[in-house]
Amino acid sequence: MILKNDIKTKRLIEIKKNRERIIGKVLNNLDDQTFIFFAGIHGNEKAGVLAARRVLTQLEKQKDNVQGNVYFIYGNKKALDQEVRYLQEDLNRIWSLNRIEKIKDNIDENNPEEFEQFEIYKAVKDIITKHRGTKYFIDLHTTSSPTQPFITISDSLNNRKFSSCFSVPVILGLEEYLNGPLLTFMNEYGYISLGFEAGEHYSQEAIDNCEAFIWLSLYFGHCLKKKEIIGFDVFDKRLNKSSKNNDFFQIDFRYSIQKDENFKMINGFVNFDEITKDKLLAYSDGKEIRAVNKGLIFMPLYQNLGEDGFFIIHKISKKWLKLSAFLRKYNAHHLLRILPGIQKHPDNPFTLVVNPMIATFMAKEIFHLFGYRQRVLTGKNYHFIKRDRKITPFP
Ligand SMILES: [Zn+2]
Repeated sequence: MILKNDIKTKRLIEIKKNRERIIGKVLNNLDDQTFIFFAGIHGNEKAGVLAARRVLTQLEKQKDNVQGNVYFIYGNKKALDQEVRYLQEDLNRIWSLNRIEKIKDNIDENNPEEFEQFEIYKAVKDIITKHRGTKYFIDLHTTSSPTQPFITISDSLNNRKFSSCFSVPVILGLEEYLNGPLLTFMNEYGYISLGFEAGEHYSQEAIDNCEAFIWLSLYFGHCLKKKEIIGFDVFDKRLNKSSKNNDFFQIDFRYSIQKDENFKMINGFVNFDEITKDKLLAYSDGKEIRAVNKGLIFMPLYQNLGEDGFFIIHKISKKWLKLSAFLRKYNAHHLLRILPGIQKHPDNPFTLVVNPMIATFMAKEIFHLFGYRQRVLTGKNYHFIKRDRKITPFP
């Protein structure tokens, strides 16, 4: 159900009520596990903020039952106020160590997103410094077209383990196609990080799904017992009902929209729709864009702002998932380094340096199997970056 303009306005007023970076928190044991939920990293995605407020009302009454700590953090407050995805820069595409070092020294006053990023960084740093237990970072989003809920993760075993608790499809490896998402940054320091896409921006379902996802996260993360969550069965059923399955998927293709390109997705595509090779998907400056391979359509863009036109994904077999988990658990990635043209990075233990011949000759899937996801061309060589890592000091 799409909400009408008056509901949009009502939401805007509700959002403006709170000017703090932290939407709310419940702290019960500093050394126990800590959940950190981000909401509204994209300013036109308010469902997470509204769901956070609902959960907080209930959670505060049950404070004594909470094992550990729960934080809810605003994303792009200025963009939330204006009901737009972002003002100058997408706040979910600017997370890198260089950028953090830069804004610690000097914030560009003409770039509203730099200030937002700095505040979020400070809040996260403070939480990491204060709490010793396991940390879970969860980022709540919505999409421009209707969708069943789904999870996105960087492909680390700790992310896989936590995301497979939910009856929701899981998409692996989105970070190979995106630069600088917040959660990829958190994952680089070893933290469990899940993105949750709850449904269409203005649907009531998206708020309900976010609320269900928050409560279930707290249950699966042992913050609350089933009997302590009022309406647990409703939340559990809600995500089960609205999701067709809990399979894992992998991205094969991303259509990247260039600056000043006039991109128009063909109407009517819904996430996980099956498509054949050569199917007409969109128009770019009036020219046809057809599917490069068969698969399932994923995140078709039906709004003005955004750089990803659509993705094509496929389902990953259970056998592949098991084999890759086995290989990684026993550190079989050392075997890759025996091959000619593949070396350990001298400074970064999570990176392989691969010469371009080998990188072209060996299928990307082999690297994926051993847990190396992101491929970056650095000088003459490719760097393949591993997602599994221990907790390392946060900058
Ligand atoms: Zn978003």
